[in-house]
Amino acid sequence: MTQEDERWMRMALDVARSKGSDPSTSPLGCVIVRDGQVLAAERNQTHELPDATAHAEMMAIRRACESVGDLELRGATLYSTLQPCGMCTMASIWSKVERVVYGAEGADVHPMYFEAHGIDTLAFVTHAYRDDLTIEGGCLRAECAQLYYGPDADLPKDEQANL
Ligand SMILES: [Zn+2]
Repeated sequence: MTQEDERWMRMALDVARSKGSDPSTSPLGCVIVRDGQVLAAERNQTHELPDATAHAEMMAIRRACESVGDLELRGATLYSTLQPCGMCTMASIWSKVERVVYGAEGADVHPMYFEAHGIDTLAFVTHAYRDDLTIEGGCLRAECAQLYYGPDADLPKDEQANL
């Protein structure tokens, strides 16, 4: 993790907060960078579109591929304020990004974000058919974790499903 990583994560945090930072609005931000250039910076838009797959990382991968006119993003780093879910981890693998850097991780947030889905996204990468993808967590971890419901938050069931 470098100062450069923290710089891009700060941008992802700004993107996440761009429509407010109430945890009920699922403020997730993602920035994709290559050679010091931003290819995409997106917030999750599941409710706005509406599109169940419109997570920040999915939106950013789509925009980045459009902007470079290529379905592969080799050499790029994907920054996400929260550990990517299974879908976004798989999308990162398919898009051929080189690195995934995330802020908060499972243990920093409410179980509804990860454990409830019964999937360990990091195991995904470990067992993926690509050995050229690195994934690193904990970049501006505390700042990122503040965006989400804490591990012990007392949430009604319907709110938990409202990701
Ligand atoms: Zn996701």
